[in-house]
Amino acid sequence: MRYSEIFGKTLKNIPADIQLPSHQLLVKGGFIRQVSSGRFAILPLGYLVSEKVVNIIDAKMRELGSLRIETPTLHPIEIWKKTNRDQAFGDLMHVVEDHREAKFALGATAEGLMTELVKAENPTYRDFPILIHQFSQKFRDEMRPRGGLLRVREFMMKDAYSFHTTEDDLKEWYQKYFDAYLEIAKSLDLTVVPVVADSGAIGGDYNHEFMVESASGEDLFVKCESCHSAWSLEKLEKDENKKFEDGDACPKCESGALKFTRSIEWGHTFNQGQFYSIPHKANFVDQDGAQKPLWQGAYGIGIGRTMATVVETHHDDKGIMWPKNLAPYKVHLTSLGPSEEVSELADKVYSDFNENGTTVLFDDRNVHPGEKLQDMDLIGIPFRVVISTRSIGGGGVEVSYRDNEKSDVVPASQIADLLNSFYT
Ligand SMILES: [Zn+2]
Repeated sequence: MRYSEIFGKTLKNIPADIQLPSHQLLVKGGFIRQVSSGRFAILPLGYLVSEKVVNIIDAKMRELGSLRIETPTLHPIEIWKKTNRDQAFGDLMHVVEDHREAKFALGATAEGLMTELVKAENPTYRDFPILIHQFSQKFRDEMRPRGGLLRVREFMMKDAYSFHTTEDDLKEWYQKYFDAYLEIAKSLDLTVVPVVADSGAIGGDYNHEFMVESASGEDLFVKCESCHSAWSLEKLEKDENKKFEDGDACPKCESGALKFTRSIEWGHTFNQGQFYSIPHKANFVDQDGAQKPLWQGAYGIGIGRTMATVVETHHDDKGIMWPKNLAPYKVHLTSLGPSEEVSELADKVYSDFNENGTTVLFDDRNVHPGEKLQDMDLIGIPFRVVISTRSIGGGGVEVSYRDNEKSDVVPASQIADLLNSFYT
């Protein structure tokens, strides 16, 4: 891709009220634009990253045996009323009315809808487990959206649902999703700490939040330095019915000290037991012919929030430092200066990349070299090739890496080998 042709470029200046690093860098780097408070457009560069996040998550869900589906954004309000979720979500929920005065909730999550969907198939014990997931827009009318993609009013979420015939099966599968979340986090180069959390408005028996340590996070998790038990602060204080402070004694082992960590809630898994199936009368026919309520779990990851969390944990003062498997392109190629010799070699290197199927962002703009180098750091592609009169004088092209100071001038014929060894 020629950068001159890309829609949505880097910005020199961004509004002063943009505070979090991920928000600043994603806007400045040309990955996202705010449309209105808490609602963002994902531009082409951002979309390439978002697509990679979706593919990593989707592949892991399919590996578990989950099948991808699509469901409507507008949920009949009656579905939400069956478990009083309309009350529990309260002002966070968007409600719209059609021309026949039928009311709909804009999906904030989809347990009720999925439960109805499974119920309508009249499943028998032979049909389980039922494992389904979707990627769809979710709506939460946050009072105070903040921090770019970290807390928004509308966002793409992967929500997965599992349905089972016994509590033991649910527990076994919950653990599989839990383990899958740890593997997904690893693929995204995120260090996560799963903590026992409160189920809030979503409801259920027990659940975990997957926290990523970050000064930009708005949640605190608490971990015992001795027995390693970990909770969200909210959950711990609710369970123990008292306030806690950093350094307090662990209520579980009573010997360790509690450490508070500021963090971003990246993912959330819920064991929902029969919280939905009983009020929805969502049953299956068991081996003995009896109708019994389903057991179910739900598992969410926000896609935009994942992008923001990766940027929060992968940047320096010059820009983003994408992990290898999330970078929008494998290579950032830049030509510096107006020399014909430089542009000829750059065109040749660019077409070689295209021919062998290497994704490349080629900054072919006729702008000041300093600006091109700054944009290269800002956009944050890990493997870079710079072509200048100086590099040609030194024997070819300059290969450098976003996450270290190392750079080498090598003949253009060696780029492919360096690239292969970098990406394997
Ligand atoms: Zn402890």
